[in-house]
Order: sequence, then C-alpha cells, then structure tokens
Amino acid sequence: MKVLVTGSSGRIGLAVVEALLAKDHTVRGFDLRASGRSSSHYDEVTGSLDDVRAVENAVSQVDAVLHLGAFMSWAPQDKAKMFSANVEGTRLLAHAASAAGVRRFVFASSGEVYPENAPLSLPVTEDQPLNANSPYGLTKLLGEEIVRFHQRAGKMQTVILRFSHTQDASELLDENSFFSGPRFFLRPRIRQQENFGNHAVAEILRVLDTGEPAHILARNEHGRPYQMHITDTRDMVQGVLLALQHEDAAGQVFNLGATDPVDFEALLVHMSDITGLPIIIADLPGQGVYYQTSNEKIRRILGYQPVWTIERMVKEAGEARRRRRSS
Ligand code: NAD
Repeated sequence: MKVLVTGSSGRIGLAVVEALLAKDHTVRGFDLRASGRSSSHYDEVTGSLDDVRAVENAVSQVDAVLHLGAFMSWAPQDKAKMFSANVEGTRLLAHAASAAGVRRFVFASSGEVYPENAPLSLPVTEDQPLNANSPYGLTKLLGEEIVRFHQRAGKMQTVILRFSHTQDASELLDENSFFSGPRFFLRPRIRQQENFGNHAVAEILRVLDTGEPAHILARNEHGRPYQMHITDTRDMVQGVLLALQHEDAAGQVFNLGATDPVDFEALLVHMSDITGLPIIIADLPGQGVYYQTSNEKIRRILGYQPVWTIERMVKEAGEARRRRRSS
C-alpha cells in the first residue's frame, strides 16, 4: 500500500513513517520541514497544508492518508496561522484525497475537542458532547467536521482518532522540550505563562522561584494535583496503524492513548529522584487539569494494547537525560 503521512517530520509522524517502512509499505511524507530521509520506498513533498498545489501533489497515487500534520499552539498570536494549517489545510487535503480516489483517510484529532481539561463526566468517552474551549481544540473540532462530511459523502473511508497528550519518553525530563519543559520545570513554566499573557500566574510562580532549578508540581486552587494521560509515541503508532488497516475502523471515532492517567504528585517524586531537583508545589487558580479518558472502544474494536507505562517512560527519560548531560 502507498501511504501519505502528513506531519512526517514531527514527533508522531516520523515514528509512523518508520513503522510503515518497516512493514514494507511505500510511504510519502508531507511536511513544512524536510526530514532528510532518503530510501527507495520513501519520497517526500515539502510544503504547507494550506497550499493547494502542494496538497494535490502529495495525494497523487496514494491509497491512504494519515493526516498527522498540524500546528499546535496555545499562544494567542498564532491563531491565524493555526486555523490556516489545521482547518483550511484539512479541508484542502480531504478534498484532494477524495478527488484522487484515496480509500482511507485517518485524522489526528485531539482530546481538546471535548475538552478533556473540562470534562462533563469521567472517564471521557467518545460519546461526550464536543465543547472545545481553546482555539487549538476548535481547529481539531472543525477538522473532524470536515472529515465527517467526507465520510457522509461516501467516497472515502474515514477514521477519527482523538489523540491523548503524547510524548517521546526522552522529552519527559528535558527542560527545553516543548511540552515537558513548562509542565514539569518551574522556570520554563514561568516563561510559558508570560508568553501566553497569563501574567498573574507567572507572578505566583515567580514568587516560588528560589533561584535554583526546580520541578513544579501543579495543583488546582484546592490543592488537588493535576492528573492526565501521557502516552508514549510508540503506543500512538500502534493505534494509527490499526486505524489504517483494521476493517472495523472505517467510519469510527476512537480515543487513542494510554489506559491509565498519570497522577502528577507520584510522577514528580519519581522524576525528582532521578534529577535530584527539588519539587516546588504551586496551587494555581481554577479547577486545574484532572481527567481520565477511556480507550476501551479502541481496545475492544481494534485490539489496541498500549505497553509503554509512565514508569517505563520515566526510566527511559532518565537515561536520555544522563546522555544529554554527559555529551
Ligand atoms: P509535531 O508538532 O511534532 O508534528 C507536527 C508536524 O506538522 C510538524 O513536523 C510540523 O512541521 C508539521 N506542520 C505544521 N504545520 C504544517 C503545515 N502548515 N503544513 C505542513 N506541515 C505542517 O506534533 P505531534 O506530537 O507529532 O502531533 C501529531 C498530530 O497529533 C498533530 O495533528 C497534533 O495536533 C495531534 N495531537 C498531538 C498531541 C500531542 O500531545 N503530541 C495531542 C493531541 C493531538
């Protein structure tokens, strides 16, 4: 099968491309950034999802599309660029794929369509109402609508995967990484909050800064530690390949992610044992992040079986941190 992977230079796309090539598929990547990869079963279109010519080139002669490319940002100044890449880009890609006779189109949506951080009930299942409350979540919700439209049109099988928060294990203890830096390290969190324009939160955190590097344990205003899913990229690859190949995936929507959520209090103790950094506790205004999302449907229908527990991920993160610090 010839498969187009958008976002092929990204965290999940890169790993999906490797997995497809290992299974002897022919793969085309599509990303803003070139991957530098060259192999006889791989070619690449470098361009933007909102460029109709680039998109039409990308879909020609492919059997299936794994649409993983997107611009993820929560910074107010990125809104226009994000809607263009994620909404207009998905519209152009789905239209071009359908016109080119693509058989299956898999879309990487997000738990932010519910959104998971303001759940109506727990665990979050696929039938919960969709009340996205961030611009990023809205771009994914609109992307889903475009994909549902094509499913109704009947020319292309579609699968919507609502992705869990996803990390490479090596990122977890990297204070410079996009997600884990601000999530688990105090100073990067202060910089992130300033960048988002959340000056009041940044000020609360600045007061807690002792001048030494530290972890941050975020809790809500009542002292409840955050809890959410953190899924290893390798487990996401398994789910994406099932969505591509499993007969019963067609026309379905699945939550895709780790089975158990992560309690940040326990996680931070574990992380601090490895890094030797102190943990600063921050009780932040509001309800905070506290959810559990069900992956029961994808396990039951597609046989999905995630294997990368947070304990295994943190162990690997510690090894990656040691390597970074000794090089
Ligand atoms: P990533 O940022 O590592 O990769 C996304 C890729 O998309 C990047 O390589 C980027 O260059 C490319 N891209 C961005 N704008 C583009 C454009 N206009 N045209 C072409 N390519 C463009 O992200 P990831 O973690 O690999 O996520 C993959 C998908 O999963 C995305 O759709 C994302 O929204 C979704 N998702 C990710 C998470 C997560 O926690 N990582 C959670 C929920 C959903």
